Amino acid sequence: MKDRIITVITNEKQRTRAQYICVFIVLGLVALMMTVLNIVTDKGALTWATAAFTLLCLFNLFIVYRWKQVGVTVASALFMAEIIALFTFFIISGNPDGFSVIWIAMLPTCGMLLFGIKRTAVLCSVLFIILVFFFWIPAGAQFLQYNYNKTFMMRFPILYVAFFTTSALFETIRVLTQKELDKLRERYKELAAHDNLTKLLNRQGFIELVKNTESNEDQTVFMIDIDHFKNVNDNYGHDIGDLVLIKVAENVEQAAVNAKACRWGGEEFVLWFPTGGCDPEAIRLGIEQMKIEFPTCDKAVSLTVSIGAAKGEGDLLKLISRADKALYKAKENGRNRVEWE
Ligand code: GH3
Ligand code: MG
Ligand code: MG
Repeated sequence: MKDRIITVITNEKQRTRAQYICVFIVLGLVALMMTVLNIVTDKGALTWATAAFTLLCLFNLFIVYRWKQVGVTVASALFMAEIIALFTFFIISGNPDGFSVIWIAMLPTCGMLLFGIKRTAVLCSVLFIILVFFFWIPAGAQFLQYNYNKTFMMRFPILYVAFFTTSALFETIRVLTQKELDKLRERYKELAAHDNLTKLLNRQGFIELVKNTESNEDQTVFMIDIDHFKNVNDNYGHDIGDLVLIKVAENVEQAAVNAKACRWGGEEFVLWFPTGGCDPEAIRLGIEQMKIEFPTCDKAVSLTVSIGAAKGEGDLLKLISRADKALYKAKENGRNRVEWE
C-alpha cells in the first residue's frame, strides 16, 4: 500500500488525478455536511447552493474516475467555473451571517493542489477582482444582499492576497524540489545501470533492460573475455589495465552496432543481438589487431580475446550461460578463438 502511494505521488499524471479524486471527495463530503446543516438551520437558498455543489463534486469525481486524463482536463475546467459561480453567490448572499465568503480563503491552497501555480494565479485573480468589485466599489456593493461589517469588507481581500502569496511560495518550493528529486532519481537510475569505468551497461542494468524483451528465434549472444588480462595489470599496473578495459569496451561496442553491450564482470563482456548477429571472428580479429598506446608507457599493449557464442530461442540468461560454457571451451582450446555452443 505504501509503495503504491509512493508510485502515485512520484508520477506527475497519476498524482494530479489522485489529487482531483481526493479533493472532490473531501469537498463533496464538506458540501454534503453543510447542506445537512443548512437544512437543519433552515438556510433557504444556501441549502440549494451547497446541495448543487455536492452533486457537482460527485459529477466531477465521476468524470475523473471514468475518463482518466481527459476527465482531469474536463473536470478541471468545470470545477473552475463552478467555484467562481459558488463563491460569487456566497459573496452576494452573505448567507449565513456573512460567513460563507470566508471559504474563499481555501481557494489558493486547493487551487495550487489541483491546477498548479499559473492557472491558480488566474483563478485567484478573477476571484480577487470579483471580491474587490463587491466589497470595495460602490457600484458592486449595491448588489450585496447582506450588510457586511465595513472592516471585514476592507480587510478580507487583503487577507486573501496574503493566503495566495504564501500558497504560491510553498507551491514554488514544492515544484522545484520535485524537479530536483526527479532529476536525481534519473541520475541514480542511470548510475546504477551503468559501469562507471567503461560506461557500458553493467550486469544489473543489462538484465533490467532485457527482462521484458520477448525471446527471439535468431537471437545471438557472445561472451567475450580478455585473455591473460591479469598479466596486463601485473606488467603495466592497474591504471593501464583500466584504460585497456575502456579501449576494449569501445571496440566491442563499435563492432556490433545492432547489439546491446554489457560489462558482465571484470574483463568479461556480453553482446546480445535481439535478432541476427555478426561474425564473432571479426570481433576477435579486430581486438587482436589493436595496438593500444598510452602516453605514460612507451610500449603498445596488444591483447587477444576468447569468445563463447550461442544462438537460439528461449530465456536469455540460459543463452548467456550456454555462451559462457562455449567461452570455457575456447579458453581450454588455447584462447584467442571463438567457440559455439
Ligand atoms: P584468462 O585468460 O583465463 O581469462 O586469464 P585472465 O588473467 O584474463 O583471468 P583472471 O580471472 O585470472 O584475471 C582477471 C583479472 O582482471 C584479475 C583482475 O584483477 C582484473 N580486473 C577485473 N576487473 C578489473 C578492473 O576494473 N580494472 C583492472 N585494471 N583490472 C581488473
Ligand atoms: Mg580473462
Ligand atoms: Mg574472466
